[in-house]
Amino acid sequence: MIIVMKPNSKEEQTKEVCNVLESLGLGVHISKGKQVTIIGVIGDKTVLNDVPIELMPGVEKLVPIIESYKLASKTFKPESSVVDVDGVKIGGKEIIVMAGPCAIESKEQLFEAAEAVKKAGAQFLRGGAYKPRTSPYSFQGLEEEGLKYMAEAKARTGLKIVTEVISHKSIEVAEKYVDMFQIGARNMQNFYLLREVGKSKKPVLLKRGLSATIEEWLNAAEYIMSEGNYNVVLCERGIRTFETATRNTLDISAIPVIKSKTHLPVIADPSHATGKWEFVLPLSRAAIAAGADGLMIEVHPNPRCALSDGPQSLTPEKFNELCNSINQIAALLDREYKIHKH
Ligand code: PEP
Ligand code: MN
Repeated sequence: MIIVMKPNSKEEQTKEVCNVLESLGLGVHISKGKQVTIIGVIGDKTVLNDVPIELMPGVEKLVPIIESYKLASKTFKPESSVVDVDGVKIGGKEIIVMAGPCAIESKEQLFEAAEAVKKAGAQFLRGGAYKPRTSPYSFQGLEEEGLKYMAEAKARTGLKIVTEVISHKSIEVAEKYVDMFQIGARNMQNFYLLREVGKSKKPVLLKRGLSATIEEWLNAAEYIMSEGNYNVVLCERGIRTFETATRNTLDISAIPVIKSKTHLPVIADPSHATGKWEFVLPLSRAAIAAGADGLMIEVHPNPRCALSDGPQSLTPEKFNELCNSINQIAALLDREYKIHKH
């Protein structure tokens, strides 16, 4: 449920309503918009049966939230959220780009990728240290050693670091080295893991599950938020359909749909969506045109030798072209674009 305050209501009146709600054991979340203040109420609403909140001074109306997710819903918080990752803001006017190899393979490979994506204009370095591979015999990642290289790459380039976590243990380790946790598609409904990253203060990049509906995806975000971590960024990375020409099908419509349902930022990952490097550029353009707040792109210094996802990885040259192209699309949109060339 949300409580909408009157446009001319006073701050003390909002406080008074919150005091009553909290005294009944309910959680409150205040959202101050330009026009009105909205109080989101969390908890068992039956305690309000005998308390006429709607009659309190300054209250305009009570509105139930019909969605199964609350904290993530736009009804609960109509204004878009901006997630601050160590100073880089996702979900504002600026379009952000995360780029780097699928897997961290060696110090040299990572540093080369980091320098290249920085030079082209990315703000984040991505790279997997714990790889949830489809086959148990595929390269599984360098784990903590890889994360140390990531922290070193940050020190050298200033890029923010995002990496996937797959377990309680990996969260504990990654916490020391990275700026943002990634929850991969295969773990989107690992509710234990979602709660664990929810207990952390670090921002979370939540990828859409391979066959997840938008509602299931938003409920996954709700799991993280229900633990107190509101710094969630969604990532559309393609869903499984009957089409086999591409690895997955990038659900472009999910971008405006998600924007209509949630205040959380959303980015797109055309690399995992298509599985083929030659389609990454057109789909990046499409995702930004559809309203995505950023992109996640796989870049490898030498894709042919990559230990994972080589066929979908861009060379540094192709990635530079992509950044220039995104620059042009952004110029057509009402967005600030700050991919600085270095
Ligand atoms: C990744 O980004 O490294 C990855 C494995 O992606 P996804 O979880 O979307 O498959
Ligand atoms: Mn990959």
